[in-house]
Amino acid sequence: MKRIGILTSGGDAPGMNAAVRAVTLKALHEGIEVYGINYGYAGLVAGDIFQLDKDTVLDIIQRGGTFLYSARYPEFAQESAQLAGIKQLEKFGIEALVVIGGDGSYHGGLRLTEHGYNAIGLPGTIDNDIPYTDFTIGFDTAVNTALDAIDKIRDTAASHERTFIVEVMGRNAGDIALWAGVAGGAEEIIIPEKKFDIAQVAAHINTDRQAGRKHSVVILAEGVMHAPEFAEELSKFGDFHVRSTVLGHVQRGGAPSARDRVLASKMGAYAVELLMQGKGGLAVGIENNELTYHKMDDLFDSKHKADMSLYDLNSDLSH
Ligand code: ATP
Repeated sequence: MKRIGILTSGGDAPGMNAAVRAVTLKALHEGIEVYGINYGYAGLVAGDIFQLDKDTVLDIIQRGGTFLYSARYPEFAQESAQLAGIKQLEKFGIEALVVIGGDGSYHGGLRLTEHGYNAIGLPGTIDNDIPYTDFTIGFDTAVNTALDAIDKIRDTAASHERTFIVEVMGRNAGDIALWAGVAGGAEEIIIPEKKFDIAQVAAHINTDRQAGRKHSVVILAEGVMHAPEFAEELSKFGDFHVRSTVLGHVQRGGAPSARDRVLASKMGAYAVELLMQGKGGLAVGIENNELTYHKMDDLFDSKHKADMSLYDLNSDLSH
């Protein structure tokens, strides 16, 4: 194998650049050339492709976002677009590629593998919602960003004896809420994976107030409902001086944490090793601190599971 390509696709996540850097440096170390593909599959089809060398990736490990840009390009589900992409791979002499993104991006990678161009997927998303990996690239940074905001919100919640509903990202997964909630000492964590009863949340806050604890922070995953709506519902059960905050896209940006940089570096180098072994159609994960891989097909049939022990832990610690 002489030349590989790399693209980032779907939602951006801190640590994607660290993964691109690791793929590039590992491949160069093994005598393989690397081409960056801008704008995910859209750039592949358009031929927006350029050579990556050591200098190009030298200063990107600390940068958030993705310097290869990302794009949604649903047209890539059609075979005509895939064949157009393959023409570009042929033109640039790219024999295999690494795809960083979520499960949509893996679908694209699997199609290319089926056409004879091995693709290895790396899980790049802040949501941590990909099966067969304990952590995705970007999740740790997003949790720390949310935590920083939660700590600040607690200061003002305490000063004014308020109840704050803090909405965090995660799409349909409660992982960011669970991790940021436990780390931030949340009084309640509300996630899509667990049914909640707003009357019970109100009762909990009331009990706390009677015991002299006059402020609360409720961490709400966006997959449940929006914070203002939750605040309105909660206010029907008493005057808790409720305020709501939606953290939003700040959680997607920022310099990647050390954990995300290390995870991205490990996974990037591993992806190159798998390609060198002639493997394709695989998604890399980290399970029990070991690098693993699974068939992309198997991922599509499974569902990510949040660590519900964190939910139980938080209930024990806060009730
Ligand atoms: P995230 O979960 O962070 O949004 P994702 O990779 O799941 O990441 P998607 O928008 O679902 O994000 O997919 C990214 C890109 O992958 C799409 O824009 C499209 O180009 C390609 N893609 C998605 N689904 C398919 C498919 N069924 N076949 C081929 N390509 C696909």
